[in-house]
Amino acid sequence: MRVNREVCVGCGACVNLCPRLAIRFIDNRSYIDELSCIECGTCRAACGVDAIYSDCRFPAMVLFNFVSNPFGEPESVPEEMNLPEK
Ligand code: SF4
Ligand code: SF4
Repeated sequence: MRVNREVCVGCGACVNLCPRLAIRFIDNRSYIDELSCIECGTCRAACGVDAIYSDCRFPAMVLFNFVSNPFGEPESVPEEMNLPEK
């Protein structure tokens, strides 16, 4: 998750809810450490002004590992992964 710091009003509601302690307060606005975040969505649900949004790059990383597999082609690729043409 990420915080739109233009929208965040600094209420602090999200900070103590994070099970990964990934949210900190910097300059009176919350900040999410994306390396600690597990995208559980708790903070997003708690934010009253919709300042928190998902920017999960996990699917992109899976896709990257898929196409760079040194052990050969995968047998089948899910259509939704939308692999680029080789
Ligand atoms: S999505 Fe979950 S783990 Fe990530 S910052 Fe929000 S509460 Fe923490
Ligand atoms: S709940 Fe929303 S407005 Fe409040 S500190 Fe967190 S991100 Fe900012």
